[in-house]
Amino acid sequence: MDIKSLTLDELKTEVSKLGEKPFRAKQLYDWMHVKLAAGYEEMTNLSAAFRARLKEEYPYTSLELVQVQTSAIDGTKKYLFALSDGNLVESVLMRYKHGNSVCISSQVGCRMGCKFCASTLDGLERNLWPSEMLDQIYRISADIGERISNVVVMGTGEPMDNYDNLLRFIRLLTDENGLNISQRNVTVSTCGLVPQMRKLADEKLQITLALSLHATTDEKRKKLMPIANRYSISELMDACQYYFEQTGRRLTFEYSLVGGVNDTAEDAQELIALAKKQCCHVNLIPVNPIKERDFVQSDQQAILVFKNKLEKKQIACTIRREMGRDIDGACGQLRRRHLIDGRKGGTQE
Ligand code: SAH
Repeated sequence: MDIKSLTLDELKTEVSKLGEKPFRAKQLYDWMHVKLAAGYEEMTNLSAAFRARLKEEYPYTSLELVQVQTSAIDGTKKYLFALSDGNLVESVLMRYKHGNSVCISSQVGCRMGCKFCASTLDGLERNLWPSEMLDQIYRISADIGERISNVVVMGTGEPMDNYDNLLRFIRLLTDENGLNISQRNVTVSTCGLVPQMRKLADEKLQITLALSLHATTDEKRKKLMPIANRYSISELMDACQYYFEQTGRRLTFEYSLVGGVNDTAEDAQELIALAKKQCCHVNLIPVNPIKERDFVQSDQQAILVFKNKLEKKQIACTIRREMGRDIDGACGQLRRRHLIDGRKGGTQE
């Protein structure tokens, strides 16, 4: 049993099985989710006997820091963590005036196959548990000694492909007895798994749903994202509408601009037509070229022209700041480089 993935109520049941009083569960929960203890030995107000029992029966999830890189440009920090089975995941800390934002991974690898993305090149290894998603945030908060105010699930993996663990993670992250991060400060990004988007809408959470759109017709989208063979843009737009109706939350459409592929005047017109029908905000992302593919970034001028076209039609639109460009900031790049170095006989430490 993964103790750090349990709700407080579930923890009370476990603690009573060990013959301890219910208030011990609250103390334990507090150590795990507020004080961010890295192991049972830190939990000094629990008896040594109780800690020993816990250690015997409940393995404690705590990620091990393998590497940190700090951007010389903007202070963005990229973390590489080892899981208990030796798998590696990466997370990113971005520092903004309004607070600290952490981008976490939801899976080891990914099976979605998006053409421009480094995370998917080796396929899916496994899903992350709720505790492994939480601990990326906990270890980073402990590392910098500051509170994390925003969380985006935009690292490696497709969160909707790990739906149950994702939901439990969100509930624990936003629990008032835990870190108590506001749901409004949590964003989940998906390549567009329609049934799960609808299921999430029914949960009526106050989180932001971001859809990786990246193209405006099914034909063009299929060239970038294999998932487009499964769900059409029309089905996606219905699911987005439904999400808004159920939650009242404005959606984000992510649109990575690839030079000569999806950044033409026609693309802008089609994106306007789609966005007009939704309560949404468009986030333009200059594609971050990965060396395994030959996609190139749209030039700065083309990006501004594209943005102006959208704004003229009153579409709320921002260009994503490229943070951590000098430290393999894009999805999956750091982990991948590490794996490749390892295969070549380099060290993992
Ligand atoms: N699987 C989820 C979340 C992870 S990716 C999803 O698809 O949304 C987070 C965002 O970064 C997605 O919009 C993804 O399409 C985009 N992305 C991935 N690799 C990129 C790259 N090299 N350049 C620009 N955007 C990229």
